[in-house]
Amino acid sequence: MSRILIAGGAGFLGSHLCDLFWNRGFEVICVDNLITGNARNVQHLMDQNRFTYLHHDIIQVLEVDQDLDYVLNFASPASPPDYYRLPIQTMLVGSTGTHNLLELAKEKSAIFMMASTSEIYGDPQVSPQLEDYWGNVNPVGPRSVYDEAKRFSEAMTMAYHREFSLNIRLLRIFNVYGPRMRPKDGRAIPNFIDQALNGEPITIYGDGSQTRSFCYYQDEVEGIYRLLMSNLNVPINIGNPNELTILELAETIIELTGSRSQIIFQELPEDDPKVRRPDISRAKRHLDWQPVVDLRQGLTQTIDYFATLSNEN
Ligand code: UDP
Repeated sequence: MSRILIAGGAGFLGSHLCDLFWNRGFEVICVDNLITGNARNVQHLMDQNRFTYLHHDIIQVLEVDQDLDYVLNFASPASPPDYYRLPIQTMLVGSTGTHNLLELAKEKSAIFMMASTSEIYGDPQVSPQLEDYWGNVNPVGPRSVYDEAKRFSEAMTMAYHREFSLNIRLLRIFNVYGPRMRPKDGRAIPNFIDQALNGEPITIYGDGSQTRSFCYYQDEVEGIYRLLMSNLNVPINIGNPNELTILELAETIIELTGSRSQIIFQELPEDDPKVRRPDISRAKRHLDWQPVVDLRQGLTQTIDYFATLSNEN
C-alpha cells in the first residue's frame, strides 16, 4: 500500500485529491492549517482507516514518523481576494512551506509534486499558453505575492531535482471549479453562482471581455493522478482549453440558475490577466489525458452543491 501526504488536503482541490487517493487504496495523510481550507471537506474521511488529519502550517517544519511514497504540495490561498488579504502567508507558504515539504520528500525518498498554476504565466502575451512560455508577471503588483511565490516554488522544486535527483512532478493548474468551493471565496464562479442564487447583482470586473478556461474538478484530479503516476519531471499544464469570456460565463450561470439577477460592472483589479487558455498537447501526448466534463454539466453540479449549502444555512 502506498502512503501519500497531501498538504492543503482540506481545501477545495486538496480534499478531492484526498478522496481520489483514498478511493484508490492509498493511505492518506491530510495536512492543513485551515486558513482557507475547511475540515468539513474531509469530515467523511475522518473516521476511516487509511486516513489521518494533521493540523499543521507547513511554514513550520513538518516531521512525520512513517515512510512516505508521495508528498503533494497543494497548500496555499488560491483565490485573489484571499491572497490579497494574506500576502505574507501566501509568500511564506510558497517559499518556506515548499522548502519544508521538499526536505520531507528528500528525507523519505518520496516523489514530490508541486501544485503550480497558470498564474506563473501572468498576463500572457501568447495564447494558448504552452509549458515553454516563460510568462509575463509584474513582480511588484498585488498579484505578485501569489505569482512569484509559485514561480519560486517551481524554481525550488527544480533545484531539488537537479541538486539531489529528487523525483518531482510540476503541475500547472488552470482555473478549477466545482463543489466544495466556498461560496464567498471571491472567485468568479462561486461569486456568480452565489449572487445568482440569492438574486443579487452579478459583479463583473472590467467589461467582461477577459477570458478564462475553466476545468471541472473531476477532470483536474484525474489529470493530477496520471501526472503523479507518470515519470515526467517537466512542467505540465492540466486544464480545460475551452476558453470563454467572463461575460459569457456570467450569462451562462444566469441561464442555468434561472436567476433574475442583473449584471453590474465594477473596476478591474490591477494586473488581471486578459486571456488564459492552456495548451494541453503535452498532457494529451504523455498522460493520454484530456477533460471530458462540459462546462454546463460541471456548472449545473456546482450550482446544485451551492443550493444545498444555502438550504442548510
Ligand atoms: N471576476 C469578476 N467578478 C467576480 C470575480 C472575478 O469579473 O466577482 C473576474 C476576475 O477579474 C477575472 C476572472 O473573473 O478576470 C476570473 O477571476 P477568478 O478570481 O475566478 O480567477 P483568476 O483571476 O485567478 O483567474
